[in-house]
Amino acid sequence: MKVRAPRGTNDLLPQDTAKWQYLEDKSREIFTCYNYQEIRTPIFETTDLFRRGIGEATDIVEKEMYTFIDKGDRSLTLRPEGTASVMRSFLENKIYGQAQPSKYFYSGPMFRYERPQSGRYRQFHQIGVEALGTDNPALDAEIIVLGVQFLTELGLEDLEVHLNSVGCPECRKNYRKKLLDYFKPYLEELCSDCQDRYDRNPLRILDCKADRKQEFMQDAPKIYEELCTECDQHFKQVQQHLDILDIDYMLDARLVRGLDYYTKTAFEVIYQGLGSQDTIFGGGRYDGLAQEIGGRDIPGIGFAMGVERILLTLEEQEIELPIDQSMDLFITTIGEEAEQAAFKYLYSLRQAGLKVEMDYLGRSVKGQMKCADRNNANYSIILGGDELNKGVATIRNMKSGEQVEIKLDNLVQEMKKRIE
Ligand code: ATP
Ligand code: MG
Repeated sequence: MKVRAPRGTNDLLPQDTAKWQYLEDKSREIFTCYNYQEIRTPIFETTDLFRRGIGEATDIVEKEMYTFIDKGDRSLTLRPEGTASVMRSFLENKIYGQAQPSKYFYSGPMFRYERPQSGRYRQFHQIGVEALGTDNPALDAEIIVLGVQFLTELGLEDLEVHLNSVGCPECRKNYRKKLLDYFKPYLEELCSDCQDRYDRNPLRILDCKADRKQEFMQDAPKIYEELCTECDQHFKQVQQHLDILDIDYMLDARLVRGLDYYTKTAFEVIYQGLGSQDTIFGGGRYDGLAQEIGGRDIPGIGFAMGVERILLTLEEQEIELPIDQSMDLFITTIGEEAEQAAFKYLYSLRQAGLKVEMDYLGRSVKGQMKCADRNNANYSIILGGDELNKGVATIRNMKSGEQVEIKLDNLVQEMKKRIE
């Protein structure tokens, strides 16, 4: 039997990785302008970190984790997301002793045992940011704007910013009662998962994908109308800061995270054209998380975006990233002596920082020319016995067709001149 890649994983071949590198570079460039710095945490962590940091009553912890026992009898889990690890690292390295806020970004693979489909994989990739150490609402707005700027600079359009506040455990107590009262007469009509959620975690009924279309969902009490004074103030200030920057957003009471340590702001950025996996990024505030994983009281806010979903959106919107896959020079050779000379020239050119190539398959001159085309060479040069004897050769500009004779001794300088 042939060995295949595990279900829900993807190979990224060079035509793909060029796009990935572009996205990663672009995100770095923009995040750096906002003074976020890169953090790299382990791919696996103690299982307990995610149980506590994501919450027992979530799909991720209940059904989606890749958990295994290592040879030392420890329970470890491949990270399903990045926030818990960043917070763990912040606490473990005592970063709270330094001036705050601490602003981080990360990018890398995440693992969830889900049913693979378009925009949903078992190994997928996130680019995320986290701002720790202050609950200033300006940062909530900054984080949303940062994500939107990144996507907009990629050329994406028609993005919807959905905004909500899930308040604090205090406001949620009252809200929970209201929800239970409201849903009581509809209990029979809810899906079986939601009937279960009714007692355990009624907020989650609001974002149920199965029940979303039910008519009575429209009139469910809205959490942002039930906030305590502090949470209400915070929510208004987040909106004010978005207004200052003229960012369009819509209030969306359906956006919830049912766990106590998710507080205040929750948001998602959606592109409807993606179908059922239409969220490109989502995030929010998690002021109770640090204490949940055994640390002190550290507020934080962040988001994570799915790289695969960005790429799907780019495809859907028919956007070509400005990726340069051309090469500077292709050397075509005639005969063994020329091949050896070319081998040496290539070395000098590469040492000078130029991207250059030759043929390795003993192709005919015509075959080598085709090769130069396939490689998107900007210039080509033909080396044969004649050229070597005279010490001169002709550089051809592949686009304009222009040809110039140069001294072979000056090849590196001549090429550098042309590339700059
Ligand atoms: P969904 O509702 O789509 O399952 P989620 O609430 O589980 O999303 P988060 O945990 O907030 O998603 O992750 C942030 C982002 O990471 C998502 O908006 C999405 O772009 C991406 N993402 C999450 N799970 C996957 C997956 N299995 N495959 C690909 N991308 C994913
Ligand atoms: Mg999910």
